[in-house]
Amino acid sequence: MTHSPIWHPFTQHALFPRMRPIASAKGAWLMDADGTPVFDAISSWWVTTHGHCHPAIVAAIRDQAGRLDQVIFAGYSHEPAEDFARRLMARVPDTLTRVFFSDSGSTSVEVALKMALGHFHHRGEARHRVIVLQNGYHGDTVGTMSTGETGAFTQPYEPLLFAVDRLPFPSEGHEQATIDALEALARRSDTAALLIEPLVQGAAGMRCYRPEVLVEMAAICARYGVLLIADEVMTGWGRTGRFLACDHAEVRPDILCLSKGITGGHLPLAVTLCREEIFQSHWSTDRRRTFFHSSSYTANPIACAAAAANLSIWEDEPVQSRIDAVSALQAEAVSRLAGVKGLTGVRSLGTILAAEIGPPREGYMAEITPELMGFFQSRNLLIRPIGQTVYLLPPYCSTGDELAACHDAIAEAADAFG
Ligand SMILES: *Cc1c(COP(=O)(O)O)cnc(C)c1O
Repeated sequence: MTHSPIWHPFTQHALFPRMRPIASAKGAWLMDADGTPVFDAISSWWVTTHGHCHPAIVAAIRDQAGRLDQVIFAGYSHEPAEDFARRLMARVPDTLTRVFFSDSGSTSVEVALKMALGHFHHRGEARHRVIVLQNGYHGDTVGTMSTGETGAFTQPYEPLLFAVDRLPFPSEGHEQATIDALEALARRSDTAALLIEPLVQGAAGMRCYRPEVLVEMAAICARYGVLLIADEVMTGWGRTGRFLACDHAEVRPDILCLSKGITGGHLPLAVTLCREEIFQSHWSTDRRRTFFHSSSYTANPIACAAAAANLSIWEDEPVQSRIDAVSALQAEAVSRLAGVKGLTGVRSLGTILAAEIGPPREGYMAEITPELMGFFQSRNLLIRPIGQTVYLLPPYCSTGDELAACHDAIAEAADAFG
């Protein structure tokens, strides 16, 4: 291939100089430039829900692009955003009454943090500290990096990061330590918010914790007036088997971040939803209390039309039964893979399946990661391990045969590298 000027994300070009060119996609499959099909076992980095190029979403994009491409969203509005926001309300806790648009998961979390601090600032309360869960991931902007796990990813930027309070991860049998640490921090008068990925930390390697922990964390936040921010950028839109991961615990966050599956994976868009009182603390004839956040493409009409079409698919197609079917196949595979030598920690949560290859705890920079990536590439499976964690996070249209091929490949990889 001729020289490319492109610098790719999360890519060490010295180790991975060749990018695989993808020419088209349909359903759960990508087609590379040589005409070889590749099974998209991680939904193109967790975004694709119903499948690639879903006809109804493609049609909505096409139609909207010819009608209204873009318009400023301050002082102006449009039907695709209004329609999507109104209909989204039916799927989230009714305590969330306001919808703020942005363009990515990272920005949805930045907006959440600004909403939380703005809320207390305008109420004259000196609360500004944020509590997070160890190993968390909330994005790659400087603000969200501050709230995520620090390590090789963040080291060069450390001088720019703000301080947060970190809770130990509530792994099974160690839940009480997390709860106790939260209680101690939440009662401090300067604590503003708890920011978490509910039930599963995706980028940490699909680390799961029990819904009961989420229930207790929410109760502590409520007791001390600390805002609970649920980052459901990955877990939202059915990934964990329910529409939201919070739904497993019947927890109502004060602020909710959604992105990735919001357009079915077709276009970038995000929303941050909040309780009425957070909107109300900004509501004033004093212009200094305006929520000062925007991006050029806030609520882009084409992206909003794709999101509205995505909601129509949720309303009109048997999405939940597809999710249930994929979840059942993943759960069955857990029992099958649990006995495989070289695999540990085999687990599933809804449509997500994960396991570790080789002896535990080598971390993200594990030696075997590049080899594993090559292994799955050579089998035309898009499976991208996180350290030694291999996981599947497939589109909901995936079939039993397609998933079985992935499960077999994971077993083979464990045999070869475990
Ligand atoms: C992917 C992700 C983000 C960041 O979303 P981007 O769209 O990549 O900015 C934030 N939080 C969680 C939990 C994520 O999985």
